[in-house]
Amino acid sequence: MNFWLIARNFAAAFLLALLDALTKGRSKGTIIRTPSIIARPDHNISRANISRSALRVLYQLREAGFDAYLVGGGVRDLLLGREPKDFDVVTNAHPEQVKDVFGRNCHLIGRRFRLAHVRSGRDIVEVATFRAIPNEYAVDQETGNGMLLRDNVYGTIEEDALRRDFTVNALYYNIADFSVVDYGSGMADLRAGMLRLLGDPEVRFREDPVRMLRAVRFAAKLGFNIDAASERLMPGMASLMQEVPSARLFDECLKLFHGGQAVETFEKLRHYRLFDWLFPETERCLGEEEEHFPITFVIHGLANTDARIQEDKPVTPAFLFAVLLWEPVRRLAEEYVENDGLDEVLALQQAGSEILTRSLERVAIPKRYSLDMREIWQLQPRFEGRSGKRPQRLLTHPRFRAAYDFLVLRARAGEAEQELADWWTRFQASGEEVQRTMIMPSGEESGRRKRRRRSRGGKKQTPVT
Ligand code: ATP
Ligand code: MG
Repeated sequence: MNFWLIARNFAAAFLLALLDALTKGRSKGTIIRTPSIIARPDHNISRANISRSALRVLYQLREAGFDAYLVGGGVRDLLLGREPKDFDVVTNAHPEQVKDVFGRNCHLIGRRFRLAHVRSGRDIVEVATFRAIPNEYAVDQETGNGMLLRDNVYGTIEEDALRRDFTVNALYYNIADFSVVDYGSGMADLRAGMLRLLGDPEVRFREDPVRMLRAVRFAAKLGFNIDAASERLMPGMASLMQEVPSARLFDECLKLFHGGQAVETFEKLRHYRLFDWLFPETERCLGEEEEHFPITFVIHGLANTDARIQEDKPVTPAFLFAVLLWEPVRRLAEEYVENDGLDEVLALQQAGSEILTRSLERVAIPKRYSLDMREIWQLQPRFEGRSGKRPQRLLTHPRFRAAYDFLVLRARAGEAEQELADWWTRFQASGEEVQRTMIMPSGEESGRRKRRRRSRGGKKQTPVT
């Protein structure tokens, strides 16, 4: 190799290293990036698919002389030809300036980072000012793990882009010329069906471990792959979930399991060892088989949630969390019955309280839901009472419908008698006269209760040694 070639390679390497150092100087605010601009003819976002209220807000900001963009899930979903859940607007106008533009239709919210809620028609459109990349990573005193604690400085659009989570979530639709602005590899990743974090995945997960949950959520929702580097990191970094406030994890759980892909999300969460940090009690049960049958109740429950969302039927957090925590509750209650001779209802009451108390440390389920969850659990043994006035009384219980749906799931998972669930299906659909004929003599129903545990596979099997 001659001298000039070596010198040229050396100079090229030096320039690349310099460029790299400059672009990595994120925390000093020295970002040098040239965005790709995808002009209107080269992308598929049509204003016809953007809500009128979001468009109105974008135009008004623009007319007042500010930059205004759509960003996040709205842009991503439009580019994918999906119907967006909502439209988020970002601007270089500071919150007070947004307030000046929209007057009484604008409310500023949030203390740490101020956001504007703009009333537009019947909708509220969220307008955020470009956020800077924080230059202080307040290090958690106890763990020293560099979680992001301060996040409140306004910045440029470039900075705003780089602090977002995935490249496909950092695409901006510019109302000035209807172009799409891409500061990362968003468009290419969108085409490839790839979830790629902006920046170093390890740093980004450490800053905010919820990004691991978001990776799983988007992978299930969009059918995307998580890029290999991030995927490899996730199981090892899953324990960082301990640092996340339990109230935030509750919100994330709703997004994870009420998004219409709960079964797939659940399987992915388990695959990346994340489920363990949300519901450790349940994870412990799922690892074991019972009487040689895998535990399928949670899957049945989540499949049911997905089906209801598909059919536009309502879903409730109480039912969801009752499903997610049932296995440990049922097992502990069984222990109380078998070891301590507790009555079934009392055992469920006690087990329910205990498992809930332990679970709340991770996921802060609000009381209004946990009260309903307990009722759903405690009503289960009452379905076995099919004599006298008991069935009628149960039918009028405010939580009957949820508890009955829960019983149907238990039967589907082979944990309650299918015959029992079918009886209740018929009973509630029948008129009084038929109902009277269905009521059982009191001796017969107690026999059924004893047979309940065997329903998984008919005859009890001998353990394989
Ligand atoms: P969805 O369709 O589920 O609402 P989304 O991408 O809009 O998906 P949001 O939670 O509404 O998700 O967040 C809006 C945008 O804010 C994201 O697209 C992303 O750019 C940014 N964002 C949200 N959460 C984070 C986070 N934890 N870290 C970095 N950026 C985030
Ligand atoms: Mg969104």
